Amino acid sequence: MNLKSKVALVTGAAQGIGKAIALRLVQAGANVALADLNFDLAQTTVNEMPGGEGKSMAFRADVSDSSQVEELVKKVLENFSKLDVLVNNAGIIKDALLVRIPEEEWDQVIRINLKGAYNLIKRVAPLMMKQRSGRIVNISSVVGLMGNAGQASYAASKAGLIGLTKSAAKELASRGITVNAVAPGYIQTAMTENLPQVTKDAFLHLIPLKRFGSPADVANLVAFLISDQADYITGQVFQVDGGLLM
Ligand code: NAP
Repeated sequence: MNLKSKVALVTGAAQGIGKAIALRLVQAGANVALADLNFDLAQTTVNEMPGGEGKSMAFRADVSDSSQVEELVKKVLENFSKLDVLVNNAGIIKDALLVRIPEEEWDQVIRINLKGAYNLIKRVAPLMMKQRSGRIVNISSVVGLMGNAGQASYAASKAGLIGLTKSAAKELASRGITVNAVAPGYIQTAMTENLPQVTKDAFLHLIPLKRFGSPADVANLVAFLISDQADYITGQVFQVDGGLLM
């Protein structure tokens, strides 16, 4: 896969799935801007990246804050001159039963997971429209497709991302921009490591491939969706879940 001369912005890229996506894109030849709330960790991640100075760069930004996103896109353009690829990966979970979710936690999950993607697309799509090409990948979740007890806010945000993906795909197709969603199942990252063992065992029991996914499993699909080989694919949702939901 050759992503040479492409410039990609990946949010939530300091660790986990975002880090694996950034690494995969750099390995394929892209220049990558890694944006995260945690700048120090993003910088550490950049230091681990192959390709040397300038191939990847760390930026601090809270995706839920539109002015920080505006500033982020400005800085990425200052450093890389253009933007071909956006991966909306930043996301959080705040698990609680629906009737017990504190309103501020509900709002926070929607603001980061769903409005964050809107903030980025709003700033990045006009640039891609002008250059008449672009790739947007939104990281949703199988939970957005199937729901999950104790994760109503997360499920709503991830289902919302799918609606956003399809609408954006329809609006932007005529300008050569594809927009797709990737819905991972259970992937081993910081987000899942603190789940109770009983929850992990229950998930494993439901996964036909009988293993949890790795961040690289998700990153490989994202890299394909960004490549020229995926030119004719837009508005789709792809699961990477070991068969958990079928
Ligand atoms: P992770 O290990 O927790 O990494 C997420 C990164 O996003 C963290 O570095 C986090 O920074 C950053 N972040 C959080 N809020 C942000 C904000 N407002 N602005 C910018 N960055 C922010 O999570 P992950 O497991 O890699 O998940 C990545 C994406 O995949 C998420 O959207 C998640 O919902 C989705 N996903 C994950 C799984 C899974 O099983 N892991 C399954 C399905 C979907 P801080 O650490 O400083 O908060």
